[in-house]
Amino acid sequence: MLKTQETQVRDTFLPFAIPDLGDEEIQEVIDTLHSGWLSVGPKTKEFQARFRDYVGSAEAVAVNSCTAALHLALVAAGIGEGDEVITTPLTFCATANVIVHQRAKPVLADIRMEDFNIDPAQIEAKITPRTRAIIPVHMAGQPCRMDEIMEIARRHNLVVIEDAAHAIGAEYKGRRIGTIADMTAFSFYATKNMTTGEGGMLTTNDTELAATVNRLSLHGISRDAWARYTEKGSWYYEVVAPGYKYNMTDMAAALGLHQLEKLDNFIALRERFANMYTEAFAEMPEILTPPVLSDIKHAWHLYVMRLVPETLTIDRAEFITELKAEKIGTSVHFIPLHLHPFYQNEFGYARGDFPVAEAVYDNAISLPLYTRMSEEDVYSVIKAVKRIVDRYRR
Ligand SMILES: *Cc1c(COP(=O)(O)O)cnc(C)c1O
Repeated sequence: MLKTQETQVRDTFLPFAIPDLGDEEIQEVIDTLHSGWLSVGPKTKEFQARFRDYVGSAEAVAVNSCTAALHLALVAAGIGEGDEVITTPLTFCATANVIVHQRAKPVLADIRMEDFNIDPAQIEAKITPRTRAIIPVHMAGQPCRMDEIMEIARRHNLVVIEDAAHAIGAEYKGRRIGTIADMTAFSFYATKNMTTGEGGMLTTNDTELAATVNRLSLHGISRDAWARYTEKGSWYYEVVAPGYKYNMTDMAAALGLHQLEKLDNFIALRERFANMYTEAFAEMPEILTPPVLSDIKHAWHLYVMRLVPETLTIDRAEFITELKAEKIGTSVHFIPLHLHPFYQNEFGYARGDFPVAEAVYDNAISLPLYTRMSEEDVYSVIKAVKRIVDRYRR
């Protein structure tokens, strides 16, 4: 009996996430190293252009992280001291940290159970005369209710900056994410749907905003003066704002060029694996599968399943420990912002403030979902979840 159970466990540990880089990426990096141009240069320019065309935005600016893109978006929008920016509690800390960097106040608005995304009605309820911007986050790769959010923003004259760290390739009512709001920030962090190791992109349809963000990403240096004072030669530049050092490198862009080509296939495979999970868990009263709306294209960055606590004798933390014993790596997305000490101490948030976000967080487990997994790996996760449920069913 014990023996049978033992042989069912995987031989090797299945990590929560692994990037999917091929020989094309490796060759492109070697080519970059041979070229002698390592920092922002021709490969970054090409990656920017291709990403812009993929998304369908008018402009794209490559930076060294999504966090940098979010920060520059706030700076370019003129967000500063005393301003309020509305966002979701169910996100990574970077979304709100950058608001604090600008000495503005992150005002949280609870999510909807239908998609784990910020609730437009809750946004409306949080608007004050100090509100300047909204940062919706497309949780797990499922787009927010953008029509409602843009309508609220227009009515109150607010800037909308999308945190699309999970949502490269996602669509809202047939429109690609990255073309809808004033500015959109994407992530190419190692675990995201496509990676440059570290990296990010800001897209916008506003040429002037793009020029501002581009300038701010490299010390606030303007080279427009070249055109005006050509006799001064290529050594001349002017600093027009105290900018940042947020530029992408050509080594990173070398990876991005090939990752972008593979992105649609990556998403298709992630979707197939997600559907395998959902089919397997559909009839189990102990497991809730993630919600999927019908008018969007999901980018499937994360597969967030939830436990039904009344049906089990163990809690979420113990379930994760059991999965680890089954050699399955997992994660939790996310510990809501209002449960972190800084946000509690600085802004007075407390448990109980955002009940829907808490209900998701308290029972959520993110299962492995990435393209380096095999179908067999997916089945091994399914079997492990089922075994643990069988063992601890109430
Ligand atoms: C990963 C992530 C970020 C930060 O992305 P970086 O590229 O690492 O800066 C921001 N927001 C969300 C929701 C994320 O998951």
